[in-house]
Amino acid sequence: MSSTLRFHVVGEAFEKRPVEVAACTERPSEYFAKYVFTRQKMAQYLPAEVYEKMCEVIDNGITLDLATANAVAEGMKRWAMELGVTHCTHWFQPLTEGTAEKHDGFVEHNGKGGMVEEFTGKELVQQEPDASSFPSGGIRSTFEARGYSAWDPASPVFVIGDTLMIPTVFISYTGEALDYKAPLKKSLHAVDLAATAVAQYFYPDVTKVVSNLGWEQEYFLVDEGLYAARPDLVMTGRTLMGHDSAKNQQMDDHYFGSIPERVASFMKDLERQALELGIPCKTRHNEVAPNQFELAPIYEETNLAVDHNMLLMSLMHRVARHHGFRCLLHEKPFAGINGSGKHCNWSLATNTGIQLHAPGRTPMDNLRLITFIVETLMAVHKHNALLKASIISATNAHRLGAHEAPPAIISSFLGKQLSDLLSKLEETDDDDLLRLAGKQAVHLDIPQIPELLLDNTDRNRTSPFAFTGNRFEFRAVGSQANCAAAMIVLNTAVAEALTHFKQRTDRLIADGMDRFKAILKTVREDIRTCHPIHFEGNGYSEAWREEARARGLDVEQSAPLILDAYVRPQTIEMFQQMHVLSRAELEARLEIKLETYTKKIQIEARIFGDLCMNHIIPVATRYQSQLLENIQRLRDAFPPEEANAMNADNLNLVREISQHSGFITAHVQQLIDARRVANRIEEQRERAIAYHDTVAPLLESIRYHVDKLELIIDDELWPLPKYRELLFIR
Ligand code: ADP
Ligand code: MG
Repeated sequence: MSSTLRFHVVGEAFEKRPVEVAACTERPSEYFAKYVFTRQKMAQYLPAEVYEKMCEVIDNGITLDLATANAVAEGMKRWAMELGVTHCTHWFQPLTEGTAEKHDGFVEHNGKGGMVEEFTGKELVQQEPDASSFPSGGIRSTFEARGYSAWDPASPVFVIGDTLMIPTVFISYTGEALDYKAPLKKSLHAVDLAATAVAQYFYPDVTKVVSNLGWEQEYFLVDEGLYAARPDLVMTGRTLMGHDSAKNQQMDDHYFGSIPERVASFMKDLERQALELGIPCKTRHNEVAPNQFELAPIYEETNLAVDHNMLLMSLMHRVARHHGFRCLLHEKPFAGINGSGKHCNWSLATNTGIQLHAPGRTPMDNLRLITFIVETLMAVHKHNALLKASIISATNAHRLGAHEAPPAIISSFLGKQLSDLLSKLEETDDDDLLRLAGKQAVHLDIPQIPELLLDNTDRNRTSPFAFTGNRFEFRAVGSQANCAAAMIVLNTAVAEALTHFKQRTDRLIADGMDRFKAILKTVREDIRTCHPIHFEGNGYSEAWREEARARGLDVEQSAPLILDAYVRPQTIEMFQQMHVLSRAELEARLEIKLETYTKKIQIEARIFGDLCMNHIIPVATRYQSQLLENIQRLRDAFPPEEANAMNADNLNLVREISQHSGFITAHVQQLIDARRVANRIEEQRERAIAYHDTVAPLLESIRYHVDKLELIIDDELWPLPKYRELLFIR
């Protein structure tokens, strides 16, 4: 049986499964957050005064006392046990990029030889997972294995199966963050403080600013049977070899196309389960590449949005398996077609309901809009290298710079109207633009921004950081990343920019300048400073690389070198001044990122070498022997001249196979040697550089020859499912 047929049979077995998600009469509004301990449930399960206290803890960051925690735990336990829950776990986001959990039963001895279900405030609030094998970048030596997880009341607890899941931060014995949540929360606090102070210039009643995040999760689905037959997919999440399918995305017939039934049934199931967990799923559609899809919720406060994204990613893996699929979250599972990103739509909003990055009705609203846009650009400009470091990984590096993904240079696209407006502001002097009408109002002698932005349709799909009407869309983030890494940098950098903006503007005001004139003067200065980050053109062109370099933007392409930005003086200074991360924490993060980078390529190189030598070369040899046998038989059967003519093509094939096989065999040995040399390097950074410079390129150059063999060798013999099989769900 040919490989093709064998795999199709596996696929068909799944197709014939009954579609479970039949007509469902319940409405999403009825089951939304069914498994979440929401405020509504708090009101129901907690005594009134405890409920009030919890609201204060959540809304105003008041510290939770143990008596309240005990009362909350009691109510939670009652709710959870009604759902059949028997265990609880602290759920946290270690620097491995996944989530971690350690389950404890509710049971305790009752002192009479029996058991009683117990769950105390202390268990809710704090745990000590023996977490010595989580990466800590040297912060916590293995001798001091204690790490603490502490409840984050801003993210509600939820139930999965028989377990109560408690979102927590994860910190070391000495207080350093070992996760993403702790610094994320600090960065959100920093941007709240800085943005509130600036928002009050315009709206004195603002007392809090929240950062909002709406992520768009892209992913691929592949048939589980085919997946199992690709060791590279199983071990690394991407195909390390495989020739282009004759048809892939060139017809543009997948994007927004109708969704195959099997996939639709997966999506329905996923959405239902996500909604039950309080994830406000809104949009689903086919993406550009075959078998690629996207799911996006309605945006939420960033801390919650990040938790929901982490939860969704694990849900995707679980639900996919129930439908005979594997969900690929790798940024580039298939060469030659689009990869997967996770666009992060980000904006700031006040507790009085004002979207700070959205146009308003009055000229003052518009000055506020310009201020927040320009200060965001200031942040992105100053820390463009760090923003890139926050999204780079061994896997995302494959995606950047091609097939609709942004290039590895951070710049910002604003659209024509906003660009024109900023240039006008930059060029014109005060008095032309600013006519004061009374003390408060300011009149900008330019068309109203709301009208200007209506036509903001000329979207540049490959810009890494694009303004899209009422928010910025950070598109360089990878599909499997924890978006907290990018959100920590963005929010902290904007906090810093707004803080500096306020300091300079206040100085002008103290010197007697009118408040709005002062704001405009500072904004105008900043438009000039951050000018180099603004780019509307084609990010893929070689000319842009050169220009970006000339503009002083970071154009580094090598992932290990990009990561250097984590410990540059201006990074350390920013994180320290904004009280988000210390130097030691940054150094630890860098160490972990470098180690992860190296390990990923190390694993790829091992699997790739095995595949070449155990799968590809033997098959190439077998096919070659078949050809040679045929050649010999023709020679036996026909006169030499006739046989030679008949054999010419096959002889060429034999020669071609030899050339490719020879290259593969020799270079797999080189690959092993390069790995050996790199592994002897002690220093993390140097080792990662060696993997980048000497190991990774060999994977690419050998792959070329494997893919050529795939085109020549009998399909019956080819040991791996091909792209055309993997990429088309029937
Ligand atoms: P696209 O056209 O890029 O697919 P969508 O309209 O589908 O964009 O929205 C993408 C995401 O942006 C959604 O999660 C949406 O809720 C979110 N979003 C919309 N407005 C804002 C905002 N002001 N701040 C943050 N996210 C937002
Ligand atoms: Mg988008």
